[in-house]
Amino acid sequence: MFEGLSDKLSGIFDKLTRRGALSEADVAEALREVRRALLEADVALDVVRTFTDSVQAKAVGANVVKSVSPGQMVVKIVNDVMVETLGSTAQPIDLDAAPPVAIMLVGLQGAGKTTTAAKIAKRLKERHGKRVLMASLDVKRPAAQEQLAILGRQVEVDTLSIVPGQDPVKIAKRAEETARREGYDVVMLDTAGRTHIDEPLMEEMAQIKAVSKPHEILLVVDALTGQDAVNLAKNFDDRVGLTGIVLTRVDGDGRGGAALSMRAVTGKPIKLIATGEKMDALDEFSPQRIANRILGMGDIVALVEKAAAAVDQEQAQRAAERMAKGKFDLQDLADQLSMMEKVGGFGGIMGLLPGVAKMKEQIASANIDDKMFKRQRAIILSMTPKERRNPDILKASRKRRIAAGSGAKVEEVNKLLKQHRQMADMMKAMGGGKGGGMMAKAAQ
Ligand code: GDP
Repeated sequence: MFEGLSDKLSGIFDKLTRRGALSEADVAEALREVRRALLEADVALDVVRTFTDSVQAKAVGANVVKSVSPGQMVVKIVNDVMVETLGSTAQPIDLDAAPPVAIMLVGLQGAGKTTTAAKIAKRLKERHGKRVLMASLDVKRPAAQEQLAILGRQVEVDTLSIVPGQDPVKIAKRAEETARREGYDVVMLDTAGRTHIDEPLMEEMAQIKAVSKPHEILLVVDALTGQDAVNLAKNFDDRVGLTGIVLTRVDGDGRGGAALSMRAVTGKPIKLIATGEKMDALDEFSPQRIANRILGMGDIVALVEKAAAAVDQEQAQRAAERMAKGKFDLQDLADQLSMMEKVGGFGGIMGLLPGVAKMKEQIASANIDDKMFKRQRAIILSMTPKERRNPDILKASRKRRIAAGSGAKVEEVNKLLKQHRQMADMMKAMGGGKGGGMMAKAAQ
């Protein structure tokens, strides 16, 4: 899976990263090609649109980092948007409930439910040390319960004894009682499938859900079915409610569209992917790893991340040096605000600046809170470079212009200037003294 898409995208990015400078038209052309490649891979149209819009917006707003090429920046942005589209972080199976924790598998016939039930059970036993009981609730297919029992013996996981003629709801009840009585941690419920969704199937799933109260309801769906897989997930979620998705046959030569669209369309996380018939062929779904597999650009992504981190360090170092000299103009404040946004607040950035920890309380008392960073930076960005270096020249008419340019009120501009003055005074007191400032003391 993903090979076709991966080949196309790496072709597009090779072209892009080989160029030194990039025009807007180059980026637009590359994005058109990305769009086409995603559509050909059978990614849902809405998802493709959101994807390319998001890349475009981020590319326009991105600070170009020294030492990486614009093409490399674009690759990194595409990577980040893809990771986001895939769900950002891995979402493992959640067992955080009072035992026995019920995990219910639903899906169409042949999707791989029974196989997946045994794979999950094996994993929970081996990696998490859980005692697992499996039960097949499929009374339609004569051999279904026996099939699960065979797989159970193979992976050395217990299965509920077969009582001929019992209906699915009764089996579910018996599974729960047995698990409780015999001290199992987890009960895996493998439900019956159909060739297509119908009302009796949904009704049966709803009844089982009502008696078993599963902590996880996972849809097992064949990735090779493409867009149908996404529609199926929507249907099941509407009727039964899903907590996650397991994609099977990711080892096949499908185009990958289902994997890419699933999270964005259904809002449900892909928790696991099955990659073969063997009992070990089950992996946690990691958005980072899959994006890397699709884009094949892990090295560039790592390079850009490293360069960006280095730039932050340099900027912090420069700021620290200026502060140590008692210098702190509005440009310095704007730089700090932008660093703070990135690092996630004053606490973070202050940790980067040597000897400044002691200032934290004073700055907090100057009434600066995280939410104001963006607004304040916008105000400073509406000033000319000269104004940023010499705030003293900011008289009424300039303030009005700045307020209008940043969508702020003149009072807000005044407030910012006052805060800046307080901070600059503080910096002067710390750094300006001849070896006797706070900075010197903090360094001792
Ligand atoms: P169920 O009807 O949903 O319970 O489906 P089964 O578990 O019986 O699986 C149907 C067939 O698909 C079996 O032959 C499995 O070995 C096969 N299968 C299941 N998962 C995968 C997978 O991830 N990759 C491949 N290649 N085959 C799979």
